[in-house]
Amino acid sequence: PPALLLTEVTKTYDGAHTALDRVSLEVQRGSFLAIMGPSGSGKSTLLHCAAGLDAPTSGEVRIGGTEISRLSETQRTRLRRSRIGFVFQSYNLLPSLTVEENITLPLRLAGTPADRKWLQGLVDRVGIADLLHRRPAELSGGQQQRAAIARSLAARPEVVFADEPTGALDLDTAAEVLDLLRELVDEFGQTVVMVTHDPYAAARAHATVVVADGRIDAYLRQPAAAELA
Ligand code: ADP
Ligand code: ADP
Repeated sequence: PPALLLTEVTKTYDGAHTALDRVSLEVQRGSFLAIMGPSGSGKSTLLHCAAGLDAPTSGEVRIGGTEISRLSETQRTRLRRSRIGFVFQSYNLLPSLTVEENITLPLRLAGTPADRKWLQGLVDRVGIADLLHRRPAELSGGQQQRAAIARSLAARPEVVFADEPTGALDLDTAAEVLDLLRELVDEFGQTVVMVTHDPYAAARAHATVVVADGRIDAYLRQPAAAELA
């Protein structure tokens, strides 16, 4: 099955406002998808429904073949912890924990035993092996985002959802973080779905979906999307 499959997903707020209108989307394993669109177009709603943070009003969401949209809140939380990774604009590392403790937190929350070999390879690959015993406040923004990316992959999730992952970074650091995401996709076969306002960021993905007014307005395969930049 595809890593992520949305079928006719509709989300209506307050029984009136339709934030998503019958959106269907298939994301293959090992692909890197960018979601773009103007403010208020439905990107966050799409991400939240796809990642099991929120339930659609109608339609189906499948993560690796498992239909998640009709799970209970508890079941969805369990599925998020074990099969989905998150990367945020503001890194969201816990300040009182070391980098290493932050990275392994999802494993502890999911009750999954740590795969030491995978974790070592991951922190080496992400370039933070020397920073494991520091606290987030002692790291630059780019280093914090690298740590957050390692955290998102610690449990080897089915899909990583990244919400404006470069929104707080300067241009050069943003480019490095995007290169890293792209390499993780290409080398590890990881699946990444990224919401971004930045056309340069979208251009690093394999494809871009443009959302407008709760619908998918365009599906661009790169490098066509690079022309937006
Ligand atoms: P984007 O992420 O593209 O800015 P959103 O998904 O946040 O768009 O919002 C899509 C539409 O749904 C907007 O019109 C927004 O005002 C509305 N919306 C989002 N969240 C809520 C909510 N919790 N309650 C009511 N309306 C909402
Ligand atoms: P925003 O994009 O609005 O600034 P964030 O990027 O911090 O907010 O978070 C996006 C959404 O994900 C929020 O609704 C938040 O409640 C939720 N969230 C934050 N951290 C986690 C987490 N570790 N696991 C699941 N959901 C989370």
